[in-house]
Amino acid sequence: MTPEQQERYARHIRLPQIGEKGQQAILDASALIVGVGGLGSPAAMYLAAAGIGKLVLSDYDIVETTNLQRQIIHRNAAVGENKVDSGQQTLAALNPGCEVEVIGYQLEGEELKQVVDSVDVVLDCSDNYPTRFEVNRYCVETATLLVTGAAIRLEGQIMNYQPAANSACYQCLYAHAYGNEESCALEGVLGPVVGVIGAMQAVQTLLLLAGQGEELLNRLLLFDALSMEWQGVKLPKNPHCPACGSS
Ligand SMILES: [Zn+2]
Repeated sequence: MTPEQQERYARHIRLPQIGEKGQQAILDASALIVGVGGLGSPAAMYLAAAGIGKLVLSDYDIVETTNLQRQIIHRNAAVGENKVDSGQQTLAALNPGCEVEVIGYQLEGEELKQVVDSVDVVLDCSDNYPTRFEVNRYCVETATLLVTGAAIRLEGQIMNYQPAANSACYQCLYAHAYGNEESCALEGVLGPVVGVIGAMQAVQTLLLLAGQGEELLNRLLLFDALSMEWQGVKLPKNPHCPACGSS
């Protein structure tokens, strides 16, 4: 670590759970962020600020006025720009030490799998089930850490998949059913609620990269903004899970 890095990340290094070793692991790490929207905004900003070595931003959307109420990586002047380009500009201003690669089209299939395989951790910050299940499947197939978040209305949820511990995966939550797809466009969402969940994805990512996070294993965290309550529920591995099950 350079003296500049020692200074910049001093508050992390002070933490016994991170320390120099954990900060070095963060500096050496790479992450794919799927979706540079409400969840991806704080997740990418906190990871860049924390000194993660490389971020790959994937999103095919452009910034719209309706995004600005919650997608805080995008500035008013970025309306009409690609989300990945707008995100890259914000992150470059925040921490030039973080390398940012952008993928501004729909990343799917074999190419998505290759990108998943090339990074240390994937943050699913997308907004639809097909993407979530595909990302999850490739994380299982390539044994890549996954941190998944979701938020709508006044509620959010977060969980992670830890391949080294053969933990439950995102698909274990849903078995075969996709469930009813709901969208923030129809249902609405309180801006900072996606911020809370996206920031929590960054928290989990940094802990996992620093070699912590055993307490997060096989757990689903649910957040309800109205009651201001977090609930942690056990998420058992489904032996018949189509993504990670053995049958
Ligand atoms: Zn599973």
